[in-house]
Amino acid sequence: MKEITVLSGKGGTGKTSITAALASVAENTVFCDNDVDAPDLHLIFNPDIKETNTFYSSWSMTIDTDKCSSCGVCTDLCRFGAIHYNDDKGYLINGFKCEGCRLCERICKQNAISSERNGNNYWYVSDTRFGKLIHATMQPGEDNSGKLVSQVRKSAREVANQTKAQYIINDGPPGIGCAAISSVTGADAVLIVTEPTQSGLHDIKRLTKLVRTFNTELYVLINKYDINTEVADNIKDYLVEENIELICEIPYNRVMVESVVAGKTIIEYLSNDYISDKIRHVWEVIKQ
Ligand code: SF4
Ligand code: SF4
Repeated sequence: MKEITVLSGKGGTGKTSITAALASVAENTVFCDNDVDAPDLHLIFNPDIKETNTFYSSWSMTIDTDKCSSCGVCTDLCRFGAIHYNDDKGYLINGFKCEGCRLCERICKQNAISSERNGNNYWYVSDTRFGKLIHATMQPGEDNSGKLVSQVRKSAREVANQTKAQYIINDGPPGIGCAAISSVTGADAVLIVTEPTQSGLHDIKRLTKLVRTFNTELYVLINKYDINTEVADNIKDYLVEENIELICEIPYNRVMVESVVAGKTIIEYLSNDYISDKIRHVWEVIKQ
C-alpha cells in the first residue's frame, strides 16, 4: 500500500479540488482529509458517516474559588500567562491561553485546580462514491490538530488494510505547521499544488525544505499557471534548481469553481476535457 499526500503551503491554490479530481481516476484507494482544522473534501465527497469516534484534544482547567487561598503560585509558574487575578472573581484561567499542561493542577497545595478532557472533536469513517473516506471535525481554538491528523491517517491505514486498498490519498492542510508535518510523516510521495503568486512561490520553498527532511518523493503541480506567467516561470526555475519534477500545469478555468459548487469533481463535471486528461496524467505519474 502506498500513501500520497497532497499539500499546498498556502490555502486557495486548488489543493482540495485536485485531490477530489484524483478521486475520479484513482482506483482501489482510501481517502483521508488531513485538513482537520478546516476540512472541505466532504463537500465534494458527500460522505455517508458509518462510524463516529471522539478525539480528546487537550485539557480544560478550572479553579475552584472556594478552595483557592490566593497564594498566586500558579500564576507565577504558568509559562503561558494563562492564570490571572480578577478583583471580583479571584484567580481565573484563560482557556485561550492555556495549553493544558496541567502543571498548575500539580503544584496547587489547596487542590483547587482540576482538569477535564476536551471531547468536542470527532473523526469519522464514511462511505462515499469514491470508496472510504476518513475525516474529522475540530472545534475552533482546539489544540493538537497534528495529533488528530496522525489519528485519521492511522485509521485510513487500518481501513486500507481491511479493504485491501492499494493507495491512500491524503488531502493535507495548508502551511508547514504541526498538521502539515504530521501529514507528510511516513508518506511515500508528496504532491505540492501551488499557484503563480508571490506567496505561492514563497510557500513552495518553505514546504520543499520541510518535505525534504522526510526524504519523501516530491512532485509539483502549478494550478492557474496562466494568471501570472512571470511568477509561474520563477516557480519553474526554482524547481529546476532543486531538481523537483513539475508534473503538470493547469490553466485558470472557472469550471474548477463551478464543479465544487455543484458538489462534483472536475472530471465528473466535465468528461473528456483537457483538464481531466491532465489529472489522469498526474495520477499515472505518481502511481509509477
Ligand atoms: S496555586 Fe492554588 S491556591 Fe494558589 S492561587 Fe493558584 S489556585 Fe489558588
Ligand atoms: S494547564 Fe498549564 S498552561 Fe494551563 S493554566 Fe495550568 S499551568 Fe498554565
